[in-house]
This record gives sequence, C-alpha cells and structure tokens, in this order.
Amino acid sequence: EPLILWFRRDLRLGDNPVLAAALATGRPVVPVFVLDPETEALGAAAKQRLQMALAAFAAALQGVGSRLILRRGPALEVLERLVEETGAAGVMWSRAYDATSRVRDQVVKAALKARGLLAESHAGFVLHEPWTVETGQGGPYRVFTPYWRAVRALPVAPELPAPVHLPGPERWPDSAALADWNMTCDMQRGAVVLARWQSSGEGAALDRLAGFAEDRMAAYAARRDFVAEDATSGLSEHLTYGEISPRTLWHRGRRAMEEGNPGAETFLKELVWREFAWHLMYHYPELGQDNWKADWNAFPWRGDNADAEKWRRGLTGEPLVDAAMREMFVTGRMHNRARMIAASYLTKHLLTDWRVGLDWFAECLTDWDPAANAMGWQWVAGSGPDASPYFRIFNPATQAEKFDPEGRYRRRWIAEMTRNPGAEALSYFDAVPKSWGMDPAAPYPMPLIDLAAGRERALEALKQGK
Ligand code: FAD
Repeated sequence: EPLILWFRRDLRLGDNPVLAAALATGRPVVPVFVLDPETEALGAAAKQRLQMALAAFAAALQGVGSRLILRRGPALEVLERLVEETGAAGVMWSRAYDATSRVRDQVVKAALKARGLLAESHAGFVLHEPWTVETGQGGPYRVFTPYWRAVRALPVAPELPAPVHLPGPERWPDSAALADWNMTCDMQRGAVVLARWQSSGEGAALDRLAGFAEDRMAAYAARRDFVAEDATSGLSEHLTYGEISPRTLWHRGRRAMEEGNPGAETFLKELVWREFAWHLMYHYPELGQDNWKADWNAFPWRGDNADAEKWRRGLTGEPLVDAAMREMFVTGRMHNRARMIAASYLTKHLLTDWRVGLDWFAECLTDWDPAANAMGWQWVAGSGPDASPYFRIFNPATQAEKFDPEGRYRRRWIAEMTRNPGAEALSYFDAVPKSWGMDPAAPYPMPLIDLAAGRERALEALKQGK
C-alpha cells in the first residue's frame, strides 16, 4: 500500500521532514499537489509564481524516479478519491499555520482517520512551531526582541539529506496537466516578470543562498537598506513555496557567524522575523483582518479611495513610493525598505486603511506570505504588535536621500524622471492595463499631498482617533 504525500508549501526534496518520514515507512510514495479553492484564491503574481514552483518541483521529482500528480478540487474530496484509486494507506503532509489552512487540514485529518486511514502531519515550514516557543510566564511572545533572544538560543535540528530515489507505486494515478490549470491567467503583465522567474525551484534557491553567503552576506548589515542594491538574499519567495528549508538558511547563517562573518547575525535575525510573523499568526489568526491593538478600532481610516488608486498605479508624485509600487507591479518583488516607505505613505500620508494596502500586496507580490504581509502592514500602520509609535511617520523624501542617495532606484523605475529611460522603467508602461492610459512621455505627476502637511494631518488624526 502506497502513501500519498500531499505537497503544499514544501516543494523541495532536501531537508523535508515529511518526505523523510514517508520514506522511512518503506512504502511507495505518491506525491500530489491539490489546486483547492484556498489555493485558487491566491493573488495573480503569487499564483503565477506557484505555477513556476510546481513545474520545477515536478522536474525534481522526475529526477528521483517519481512524479508530481496534479489534481483540482476541494482537498478532502480529491484526497479521498486518490486513496481509493491507489489503495493508499493514508496521507501525510507538512503543517501550515494560518487559520484557513488549519481548518482545512483538521477536517481532512478527522475524515481520513474516521475511515481508519493514516493521516499524519509534520513540521517543516518554520524553524520552531509556534506553540513550542513560550515566554517565561507561559503563552506567546508579543514583542520581537525577547522572542529573538529566546529563539537564538534554541537548538535547531540538523538538515535532512535529499533522497536520491523515491519509490513509486506500480501504477501511477492520472494527473492533470499544469498548463491546463492556466494559473497565469490573472497575470496580464508578463514578460519582465517571467524572465525573473526562470530561477524558481530548489536548485535555484540553493544557488541563491550560496551566492549570497559568498558574496553579499558580509555587507548585509551595512547595505541591506539601500534600495538600489542587490544586497539582500532574495530568498523570500523560495521560502514562501518551501523551495528551501528555513533550517538550511539558519545553519548556513550560524556557520557564517562562527566564521566571523559580520553580516550573519543580522541575517539570522531577519529570518527570525519570519518566524515571529508565523508565531503571531498562529496565536492571533485575525492578524490579517483586525487591528492587533484594539484601541485602533476607533481610528477613522479612509477606505479605498482615488488617492489609494494613484498609490497602486505608482502615480503619487512621490518618486520613491512610485518606484517601489512600479517595481512590485512589474517584477512581483519590492525591497523591504521600500515596502515600509510605501506602506507608511498609504497609511499615514494618505490615511488609508492598512487592509487596502495589504490586499494590493497580496495581489502583486511573488513572495506573498499571509503572516509576514499582515505583520508588516500592521507594524507600519502602528496597529500591530511591536509597532513603531504612531508618531513615527516615514518621510519618503528624506528616506530617498538616505537609502537611494544617487537616485538610481528612482530612475530605474520612473521613466518620466530621465531623458533616456531604461528597459525596466519602460517595462512598466508595457505591463499596465491600457485602461490606465499611461504614457511614459507624460510629465511626472505633482505630489498628491505636501509631505509636511500630510504629516501634520496624520498626526492630528492619530491624536484624535486613538
Ligand atoms: P532578506 O533581507 O535577505 O531576509 C532574509 C529572509 O528573512 C527573507 O527572505 C524573509 O523570509 C525574512 N524576513 C526578512 N525581513 C522580514 C520581515 N520584515 N518580516 C518577515 N520576514 C522577514 N515578506 C514576505 O516574505 N512576504 C510578504 O508578503 C511580505 N510582506 C511585507 C509587507 C510589508 C508592508 C513589509 C514592511 C514587509 C513585508 N515582508 C514580507 C517582509 C520583507 O519585506 C521581505 O521578507 C523581504 O523584503 C524579502 O527580501 P529578501 O528575501 O531579500 O530578504
């Protein structure tokens, strides 16, 4: 009797605990990915990126003598049917920690068990599962620094090797064809994005980590905020789809730290921000919907509005904000510093509800992650755990002087700012829908709001609203 291995956000062979556990049973393994309604609801960029991840993972499985079976429909229905078709002993998967996935997984587990089938979940997506880290008083952490202090001291198990061969069933069940799923259909903007995504998959992720550790990690602490530079790891989207294990990053960072690499500790700390986001998401499942600090519920956020639409289109007249929004629209990526500045501008200068920004990021980011995105937005808005105090409002102009001192990032993305715009700046005009009526020869827009006046307005509203 084979085992069904239900892959989700763990599309890798190396250091994959559920895969190791399945192999240890000695049974043939049937790897499956289910395009369920929860996955169909992904944003356009995330869905297209997932398609790339699936293609790469299917190829990797073939390399070890296996296959990736693709099925569409509600997870439980699909899995039960597959159990019948293959005569499998049961299903194994890696745990997920957001509310939607947890509800789904609990239903699946209960139903399979009720039929006397094996239904087993394993860790793998995070270094430490959210309930395993507790404060001295018991209960979850609410502030990052003590969480970091606790986590940095915790042991992390060694990585598991990738299997060289995966035993399969005698007869393989049918699979849908990935191309038929048309996961790119919502993504109308394409060429530049696609060019970047040639590098999806586990091999690409490992190469990226190696390159980063060799060339850029040493300068990471000093350079990571400079938006025009390629100074960060670029691993977030690989982590999002599980193309690389967080343990692999952790152990590489620890080793670098022991070797005296000056950027290593900062890198590990950022990785632990990802952990913290999932810790919060697990213990506070509404993180993506409700203000974490309830006193923000009275704040008169503006709902979606015409200024927010300008923000989405990269037409605020604030060059760093616009550059960031265009970068994301075209490539599916945005530098972390730029995310903070763009989010601050929307929530503070434009007084717009952080959930409006959260939704647009979910639509556009290839590394979209419900926990990191929600924590990031609430942190910037001021409503979140560990948030910056409400009076801290990023000034996009001074941030630009500091973190894009030569204006390279702004010129890279804003065609209207240079006489001879480059391919990246122009690609934005190819990517936007015709209905936006964008023209690279049009003058760059005037600022939506004077920065000082916007700051005063935000401070006033914040004083009153809270
Ligand atoms: P590196 O600087 O190389 O960091 C290494 C890894 O640490 C990252 O790959 C990531 O997994 C983790 N990490 C770093 N910074 C953070 C952080 N602030 N929060 C959580 N994890 C972090 N990250 C996402 O992965 N998905 C999101 O949807 C997302 N949305 C965000 C929204 C806002 C408003 C903000 C302010 C931040 C958001 N982030 C999100 C966090 C961060 O911007 C990205 O993880 C980072 O830019 C990814 O680039 P990198 O892989 O080169 O990071």
